[in-house]
Amino acid sequence: MAVPKRRTSKARKGQRRAHYKLQAPGMVECAECGEMKLSHRVCKNCGSYKGETVVEKN
Ligand SMILES: [Zn+2]
Repeated sequence: MAVPKRRTSKARKGQRRAHYKLQAPGMVECAECGEMKLSHRVCKNCGSYKGETVVEKN
């Protein structure tokens, strides 16, 4: 097994981890109202899916 010759410095470790970041999961714009919604889900804002209103607003 390969063994590291030197310990990873704090700077190196930080540089590597600089690319770690949170991402919004599968967000797309709603075709009806333009709000951000999860893809393949009914829009939370206007209750539409595939251009049809499937959930009525109260
Ligand atoms: Zn919508």
